[in-house]
Amino acid sequence: MKAVRFLGDGELAVVGLPDPAPGIREVLLAPAAVGVCGTDTHILDGHYPARPPVTLGHEVAGRVVALGDGARGLQVGDLVTVEPHRYCGVCQYCRRGMEHMCIAKEAYGVHLDGGMAELMVVPDRIAYRLPEGVDATIGALTEPLACCVHAMDRLGLMSGLPILIQGCGPAGALLVALARNLGSNPIVVSDTRPDRRDLGMRMGADVALDPSDPDFERQALALTGGDGFPYAVDAVGLPAVLESVIRLAARGARLLVFGVAEPHARASVSPNEIYTKELTLLGTAINPFSHLRAVGLLTRLPLHELRVAAYPLGKAGDAIAAARTGVSDKIQIAPGLNT
Ligand SMILES: [Zn+2]
Ligand SMILES: [Zn+2]
Repeated sequence: MKAVRFLGDGELAVVGLPDPAPGIREVLLAPAAVGVCGTDTHILDGHYPARPPVTLGHEVAGRVVALGDGARGLQVGDLVTVEPHRYCGVCQYCRRGMEHMCIAKEAYGVHLDGGMAELMVVPDRIAYRLPEGVDATIGALTEPLACCVHAMDRLGLMSGLPILIQGCGPAGALLVALARNLGSNPIVVSDTRPDRRDLGMRMGADVALDPSDPDFERQALALTGGDGFPYAVDAVGLPAVLESVIRLAARGARLLVFGVAEPHARASVSPNEIYTKELTLLGTAINPFSHLRAVGLLTRLPLHELRVAAYPLGKAGDAIAAARTGVSDKIQIAPGLNT
């Protein structure tokens, strides 16, 4: 089979590998759509610790082509989405019901061979059948959507109140769709790029602002009657965005860092402001027990508004370059496409 391999030191290659076979309680998949995301570019740039040589691809939808002994809940021919993590089960976090904080966590497409290949083997417990009528292109959005579902759980928002989502890349766009689904009002999104502001509006935002406009924060505050936002998200991962989110927070606000900042980045915050406004500052990591719920939301959100560009396996380098520039709303590899 052909596979897109990260070889270490920023090196990517499309290589031939032996076909894998499913073991006990495993299934063999033919990936049909595999999302490219920031994690993949971070791996190539050496900012994200992967275990090369490894096949990339953690946002996977594919067809079941064979079942290993004892594989449960699936049939050959099922279209599935993969929850791409493996937890140790014995560290204190696993034993406290916080598997996603596992100190020995491994991810498919990072440490274990992922979905940018003609074939992939996964345990049955992490393959979820897609709802009727949901295709692989939408199915491959389940993993990033599950991360956004967890983010919204962390934010714990009450319906009918304003939310600010700063940054409207693919993840910011999914957060907007979830906020709409949860009844936030108004939903204010910001992005320096006009195409991403447009995406935010298509996903259900009420207003899309340009944060490079010197009047941005005044405009945003005016949309809350001057009180500030009870919920606000940094979906960019820049210190300046976190600082802005804190400035725009209402008293008692819950603020969430969703964007992935550089490890050495530092923001300047006022402890006094956190104290007097009684702010809650939250992080969010991956998708603990939210993949099933994301599957349930696939037909409830306007996901077709994300314009997906699909590349064949042989053009993986081009796909990753396109993901960096963000020429489409979302980039996917479609291993079934001819090169
Ligand atoms: Zn991803
Ligand atoms: Zn663990």
